[in-house]
Order: sequence, then structure tokens, then C-alpha cells
Amino acid sequence: MATTEPEIVEMPQLAVQWTRIRGRLQAEVGEVEYRTWLRQMTMVGLDGDEVTVTLPTRFLRDWVATRYGDRLRTMWQSENPSIRRVEIRVGGAAIQPAPLAESVSAPREVMKDILREPAPPVRPAPAAAGWPDERTEPRSDLAAPLDPRFTFEGFVVGKPNEFAYACARRVAEHPSSHGFNPLFLYGGVGLGKTHLMHAIAWELTDRTSSPVSVAYMSAEKFMYRFIAAIRSQSTMEFKENLRSVDVLMIDDLQFLIGKDNTQEEFFHTFNYLVEQGKQIVVSADKSPSDLNGLEHRLRTRLGCGMVADLHSTTYELRISILEAKAARAGVDVPGKVLEFLAHKITSNVRELEGALNRLVAHANLFGRPVTLETTHEVLHDILKAHDRRVTIEEIQKKVAEHYSIRLTDMSSARRARAVARPRQVAMYLAKQLTSRSLPEIGRKFGNRDHTTVMHAVSRVTELMERDGTFAEDVELLRRLLES
Ligand code: ADP
Ligand code: MG
Repeated sequence: MATTEPEIVEMPQLAVQWTRIRGRLQAEVGEVEYRTWLRQMTMVGLDGDEVTVTLPTRFLRDWVATRYGDRLRTMWQSENPSIRRVEIRVGGAAIQPAPLAESVSAPREVMKDILREPAPPVRPAPAAAGWPDERTEPRSDLAAPLDPRFTFEGFVVGKPNEFAYACARRVAEHPSSHGFNPLFLYGGVGLGKTHLMHAIAWELTDRTSSPVSVAYMSAEKFMYRFIAAIRSQSTMEFKENLRSVDVLMIDDLQFLIGKDNTQEEFFHTFNYLVEQGKQIVVSADKSPSDLNGLEHRLRTRLGCGMVADLHSTTYELRISILEAKAARAGVDVPGKVLEFLAHKITSNVRELEGALNRLVAHANLFGRPVTLETTHEVLHDILKAHDRRVTIEEIQKKVAEHYSIRLTDMSSARRARAVARPRQVAMYLAKQLTSRSLPEIGRKFGNRDHTTVMHAVSRVTELMERDGTFAEDVELLRRLLES
């Protein structure tokens, strides 16, 4: 590690860029995550094409480097094309920004302000360096705030999420009932896991008769709290606090992976609560059995209540969600526009919602009705990103190569599994990655009927759920085609 400080080049400008980057990061990751992990970053300078950012502890440094390193680099590059690398290291600059300020020509007070602004107050380095400071968050408020929009009423139910919804409702009405504890919700990003968890929490805390205490928090927060408790030697208090709640909800459990002692603590708390007849609700991006890296007994325990998954949205669900959200926003959005969006933005509900929000904001701001034309205009960038120009031919070629079958077999009548399965995968990917309709896809696969394509899509979806290796294979193909 370099012992000298990097040379300071055009600090004022750099500092302004840094302030912008921090702002963007904060907007991207949200207030809580930003404050937990990123607030203590300090930019110490630029050396050639490398900018250096420091954090006060090794733990924070490692965390930020692995989780945000790439993002930081991209952001720096977009702010300042001469920057190629971002060095993230442990440093005390957050505590003593003054020497830096001296070495630049900008007015000292201004520099100090820019450098100091989001940094924590001056304090001695913690004795047990390696843990984040518990002071950033008061320890007493156990639960994270709930989003007022995330209620059952605001949740649109369709085929892909009806089971998860029904389970959530059931738990909200009768917590701790047999067979529903723990409730494990899983699914991809932006499909409504957090929404359903908040909905349960709202329902339970709003009850007029015998209200229940609910602690909802992300797994990250849980871990953070636990680590902070160890540091301040208050683990007993932490455990007691947790164990005094009626319902414990942990969101995005996948983030506990690899954190052995936090897993251990969660496991004990979890067992204790279940034994006391308390309800647990957990969400993750995968099913319990697929959460590799999570301790075996924890996975087993998690899977022994009710496991409900949120599937990718269908076109019909996307339409219903758009209709509901447009109505709620009080803006008249023509059916054609809704159809267009539901076709184009298929990744997840969050993005769909984002697109609609932008349209609504635009309409309100300019007092112009929403039309297909304004949609194209306002959502230009979003649509471009979703306009994957993958063709069915490319998909067929890649898939045939991958499974070492002949390209002609994509449209042949052969039904041997060695050929039929890859063909189904190709149909599935064609549905996922292009905006072609089922009949159109069918035609490209040797004039097959649209029901054959439909069958292929559901078959592949089903297999992906059951067989991790197969799912990885398909995922890999998808990524290859998308890049
Ligand atoms: P996840 O936690 O699974 O990543 P979220 O629960 O945060 O996803 O959902 C992302 C966004 O999409 C939220 O704004 C949520 O309200 C919205 N959303 C997801 N599913 C639905 C649904 N079925 N009906 C209404 N809104 C939904
Ligand atoms: Mg979530």
C-alpha cells in the first residue's frame, strides 16, 4: 500500500464531481443503505488515472469495495473520463480532512465544507476497528419504517403472485398459524416481496383489537445491528429486543450469506421466536434450498413453514398493475399506451412503475394528455435500454451451439429429448428476449403452433425452478444473448 498521499490535481473540480457522485449513489441505494455503508467515504485525491477513496475501517472498506466498487468506478468515469481506476482503502482522512484542504488552492473553508459535508463528526477510531459504528443508527428503533404505499389494497393480484398474496393475507389475519410459520417469500428483484411484507406489517400493526408488535428489517440491517451490538457489548439487549416482538420480518435474507456469526444469531432468535409461537416472515431472491452459502440447518428450518414464490410478471398482470397505478395517480392513460408499456418493460414491476410515474409526472407538468407519441419521447432512454435487439435467429444459433445440436433441428420435426429440450429453451428465450408474439415465435420454429410455444415456456420455467443447473444454463444463455 502506498505510504504517501496521492498528488492532488484540480481538487475543487474533483470535489464537486465527488459531491455529485455521492448524491447519485445516495439516490440509487436509498437513505438507509447509504448511511449504513457509504456515508463515511472520503475522497482523498487523484493520482494519474486513479482516484483514491478511503473508509475508516477495514470492514467498511471491504464491504464498499466488493459491493460498490464497480459502481463507483463507472460513476467516476462518467463524471471524469480521465479516471480509470478507483482505489478504495482504509484511511483516517474522514477524521482529519484539514491537511488535504491545505494542499489545494481553493478557499480553505469551502474545501473543508465539501470534503467534510457528509462525513461523520470527528471522533477517535473505534478500538475494535473492523465494525461499522453503531452510532449512525440509534439502536432502540428495532423496526425500519414501513412504506405507506405498500398495502394489500395497493397490491395487484394475478396468476404469478396469487399464491404468495394469499399466504401473506393469511399470515396477516392469523399470525403464527400452523403450516404458515415461517412464511418464506421468494422471487426476483422488483416482483413485490417487500411490498407484501410491509402489507402484512401494516395489517398487523393497524389492528384495533390486540395489536401486535412487528419488527421489519432488511437482513443487512439485522447484520449491521448485530455487529454494532457486539461492538458495544450489548448483544444481550439486542437479543432481548428482538425476542420481545410478536412478528419478526427479515427482508432479502440472501445478504446474510457468508456472515457466519450473524447467521448463527438469526438462527437462534428464529428458533426461539418460533418456539414462543411468534410469527416469522422472511424474503429472499431464491428458495430456501437454493440459498447456497446459508447454513444447512437454517435452510431446513426456513423451508419447513410455508414457502411461496413470486413468479415473473405476465403481460396480463403488467396491464392490470398499470391500470391500477394510472387510476390511482388520477391520470388518463390510453389503453394503447398501457399495452405498449406492458410489452416493452417486462423485467419487473419496479421499472414498469418507474416508467408510468415518469409519464404521469410529464403529463401533470405540461398539462398534456398522455399519448403513444409523448410516451416514446418521455421514455426514450428507458425504452432504448429495453429494446433488446436480439433476434430469434441469433437465439436459435446460440442455443444450438450451446447444446451441440444442428441449427436445422430448431425447426425440424424431431422429438428426441436431446433436440426437443434445447428447442424449448430457445422458444423460452425468444419469448423472454424479443417482443415477438407466440404465433410469430412458433412460425420461426418450423411453423409450430402457438400452443407449442406456450407449452415450451411453461415447461422451461418449471424445469428452471426444479433444477438449479438447468436454470444456470438458461440464465447464462440469456446473459450471453443480452450482452
Ligand atoms: P422486491 O422486494 O420483490 O424487490 P418490491 O416489493 O420492492 O419488490 O416491489 C417493487 C415495486 O413494485 C414497488 O413499488 C411495489 O409497490 C411494486 N409492485 C410489485 N408488485 C406489485 C403488485 N403486484 N401490485 C402493485 N405494485 C407492485
Ligand atoms: Mg425488496
